[in-house]
Amino acid sequence: MQLENLKTLAKGMELVRTKLDSLPIIISSGFRCEDLNDLLGSKRTSQHIRGLACDFTCDRYAHVGRVFEVLAESSIPYNQLIYEFSSWIHVSFPPEGEDPRRQTLVIDREGARIYNP
Ligand SMILES: [Zn+2]
Repeated sequence: MQLENLKTLAKGMELVRTKLDSLPIIISSGFRCEDLNDLLGSKRTSQHIRGLACDFTCDRYAHVGRVFEVLAESSIPYNQLIYEFSSWIHVSFPPEGEDPRRQTLVIDREGARIYNP
C-alpha cells in the first residue's frame, strides 16, 4: 500500500520536476511513519503517512512563492497543493485510480485558506 503510493508520488513529482524545467527539487519531507509524524505534531490524517505527499522547494527555478504559482496554474493532477508559511510547498497526489481534487491552499500564521490569485 505505502509502496504503491510512493510510486504514485514519484510519478507525480516527475510531472512537477518537468514543469520546473527539470531543475533540482529539494525535498524536506516525504514519507513519514506514524511515530515521526507524531513527533512533528502533524495530524494522523497526513498524506505523508500514506506516502502520498512531500514538501519541497526548487530555488534554482524561482523563489518558492513563484514555484507555487507556476504549479497552481499548471494542469498537474494533484490532490492538494499548499504554500506553507512562505517557506515550502506541500503537494499530495490521489492514490492510483482516484480523481485529483486539485485543492490549492495557503497556510500561514493566520491559518489556512483557499488560494485566490
Ligand atoms: Zn507536507
